[in-house]
Amino acid sequence: MQLEEKWQKEWEAKKTFEADPKEGVPKFYLTAAFPYPNSPQHIGHARTYTTTDAHARYMKMNGKNVLFPMAFHVTGTPILAMAKRIAAEDKELLDIFERIYGISRQTAAGLTDPKELVMYFSREIEAGMREMGYSIDWRRKFYTYDPQFNKFIEWQFAKLKEKGYLTMGEHPVPWCPSDNNAIGAHDTRGDVDPELGEYTLLKFARKDGSSLITATFRPETIYGVTNVWLNPNAKYSEVEIRGERYVISDEVAKTMGLQFEIKKIKEISAKELLSEKVKNPMTGEEVPVFPASFVDLANGTGVVMSVPAHAPYDYLALRDLGRTGENAKEGSIPLKEVLAIDGYGKFPAQEICEKLGIKNQDDEKAEDATTEIYRKEAHTGKMVVGKYKGEPVIRAKEKIKADLIAENKAFTMHEIVNGPVFCRCGARCAVKVVRDQWFIDYGNAQWKEDTKKWLAQMKIIPEKTRNEYLYTVDWLKGKACVRAAGLGTRFPFDKTKMIESLSDSTIYMAFYTIAHYLKEMPAENLDEKFFDYVFLGKGSGDEKMKKMREEFLYWYPLDSRHSGADLVHNHLTFFIFNHVAIFEPKLWPRGIVVNGFVLMDGSKMSKSMGNILPLRKAIRQYGTDVVRFAAVSGADLSADSDFSQTLAEGISGRMKFMDALVRENAAASGKGEKNIDKWLRSRLHRMIRNAPERFENFEMRDLTQEIFYAAVNDLKWYQKRTSTPKLREYLENWVLLIAPFMPHYAEEFWQLLGKKQFVPDAALVSLAKFPKADESAIDEGIERGEELVSRTKEDAENILRIIKKEKAGGITIYIASDWKRELYSIAQREKRFDTAMKSAMANEKIKPHAKECAKILQQFMKNIGSMTQQCLTQEQEFRSLSDAAEYLGKEFGCKFAVMKEEEPVKGQEQKAANAMPMKPSIFIE
Ligand SMILES: [Zn+2]
Repeated sequence: MQLEEKWQKEWEAKKTFEADPKEGVPKFYLTAAFPYPNSPQHIGHARTYTTTDAHARYMKMNGKNVLFPMAFHVTGTPILAMAKRIAAEDKELLDIFERIYGISRQTAAGLTDPKELVMYFSREIEAGMREMGYSIDWRRKFYTYDPQFNKFIEWQFAKLKEKGYLTMGEHPVPWCPSDNNAIGAHDTRGDVDPELGEYTLLKFARKDGSSLITATFRPETIYGVTNVWLNPNAKYSEVEIRGERYVISDEVAKTMGLQFEIKKIKEISAKELLSEKVKNPMTGEEVPVFPASFVDLANGTGVVMSVPAHAPYDYLALRDLGRTGENAKEGSIPLKEVLAIDGYGKFPAQEICEKLGIKNQDDEKAEDATTEIYRKEAHTGKMVVGKYKGEPVIRAKEKIKADLIAENKAFTMHEIVNGPVFCRCGARCAVKVVRDQWFIDYGNAQWKEDTKKWLAQMKIIPEKTRNEYLYTVDWLKGKACVRAAGLGTRFPFDKTKMIESLSDSTIYMAFYTIAHYLKEMPAENLDEKFFDYVFLGKGSGDEKMKKMREEFLYWYPLDSRHSGADLVHNHLTFFIFNHVAIFEPKLWPRGIVVNGFVLMDGSKMSKSMGNILPLRKAIRQYGTDVVRFAAVSGADLSADSDFSQTLAEGISGRMKFMDALVRENAAASGKGEKNIDKWLRSRLHRMIRNAPERFENFEMRDLTQEIFYAAVNDLKWYQKRTSTPKLREYLENWVLLIAPFMPHYAEEFWQLLGKKQFVPDAALVSLAKFPKADESAIDEGIERGEELVSRTKEDAENILRIIKKEKAGGITIYIASDWKRELYSIAQREKRFDTAMKSAMANEKIKPHAKECAKILQQFMKNIGSMTQQCLTQEQEFRSLSDAAEYLGKEFGCKFAVMKEEEPVKGQEQKAANAMPMKPSIFIE
């Protein structure tokens, strides 16, 4: 930790990352999604922030005035929920705190007050970010419940209302019946975003005039119903909805009450219902009521219609009852075909259950079978019965549903499609139809259009995610923006409500630009006029306000927004929408960068698996720069990266090698002139040339491979190849390349190399210029010649192994003649034996070798697919290998000679003739 602390103190003392507007210096403004301080950070959080920080540092080294601020998001219920769980002494949670994060029971006991909790975890997170060496301007830090921020959000909502983007109405929202509050992805266990869909409720009439109602997403299968299912262990009741009487499970009656007015009439035993027959609302047919264990009491209505030809669970339950299949005991019930699909016969559900050998309705494979059949039926199904016979299911579905509703044989209900989803409090989430609900109207056609147009101009990384944003912009409708409870800002148009967390985090990047000024200002002064002036330039302001307006205009627009890929479908799209709504076009955001997750030893980190590595613990274990590098290297930006001890130790070992190398060579100077020195220079400048494009496109895997792993390999090779290493230029430049990723080591090396002394205005590597490639130093011939040396060395080693010789008496290498190289290019050009041969015979240089020519050409043709590079000349190969002869002689402990094919030693003529371009012949004595 010494190294890290030393440089972190230096940066702080020098205010290296406190960014103020500088006239004439181009700015670069980037932000990363601010954290929720309701638990400590783990290694997974390091990826987005380290990517952002490396980006920030890279831009700074490219001469930009860079602003990277940070704040804390406390809005909504997650913090309250966490405080509540601690107060309730939730054993599981306290165990995790203690075991994984080292938070004692005593400390945890002090966190039952939400503000204490926020302060504790935000301090913890901030300390972690500082220990990671992030180049954050901490002066701008705020919390989203700060009164100044509340004023800013009130202003934002006033602007949205002015534009007509706030609407009110009746809307289904995902709901926690226990907290009595709407919920979003942040409030659910496992951060699942609840998706809403519409169930069709079908009325199967009983004799007494009431109906059993079944819930389905597939009303078109009504023609295939053979019976109705009940769960024999459930309690059922007759209820009244809109004057009609229905039978549903008691469990469901509670949550259906969130959408309808329900009056309970009486309880009915499942046994009584199981002796009845009910009427199919579409066909009028009487069908029996049967028991089945798969019926979920809390889903739909707790009553299910059975379509065994097309639904695996229905088929299996019927078979379990002995009413279908080979062993049907009692009266077998015939299956009814409704639709035809590709690749299956009349009864797809039966077919797949038998094919997969599914035992019964409790078999896990039943779920896979259902997914497969439902998907196939939805996409390729065609109706074979009923009024819409011949039509694709996708269209018939909607028509049949509309018909049934029109004839009062069905009605609809909202449901969570990807359920069951559980609230963090433990309750199963349902859907509530909220009246007088406030929405941000992302369904507004003009707003959508403007957002899409701007999106088309933004830099989206990775580019392939652009379609996901487009899809989200298209699909978004009203977003419920207030909740009954939570921290944050009161909704200005109904002070009993709180603005929810995805709605108060869309334009806070603008707030950062002036946040440090606002700390001193009383919140009551920050009225609509104040923000109108600072952010929109409307009206007039005093000196202080003018300064703020200037600072805002200096930093805005935001150049790059960073986050994990999970926020594309909500936060990041809202972020674009709201900027488009509120600011003038020239201030709209320029780019978004999203990254994948971090796995731990190949698996997802989870509390239940106990494989969570807290960030600060990782820093202590491996050192900051190793953690930083491990978090961002090794995977493409959109892929998941994998943290493991092996990876960290591999990075650490290489850094030790580099550390020793820098110390040994710190005092060295001068430039090497040998072939191998030129090779190293060429490798260095190629690396420098490739870096900017890779950096700007966030090709993190390729970039880190080259500037770190390949660089270390090159240096190790170079050390072996020369007895007079000249490393000064290489090391100075390498330190600059690695600085955005490993800033602490880089500062230390920079100091060891004495750069402080020579370049006073770049005392810190963090402020130095990113290197520029010297194109003239890049020499492909030399690099490939050196590859030839290492390959020839390996070939000779292999031969020794094969002939079981421990030590050679002498090694002679023969380099192929130039006429073979002519032949090589002809083969590459012609790609066919006959035309190549013809062309070769017309070549003056090749003609004298007509005898060997055909055989060699045949050899070339066998490998023609891999012959993509132009071959080196005989002279180039000769020079590279001659230059390495001394080294190779030492390696093999014998005399090592390099000869040309045309001048063989007596007795080695045949061996010499075997030499081929890029494949010298090796003679071992
Ligand atoms: Zn809840």
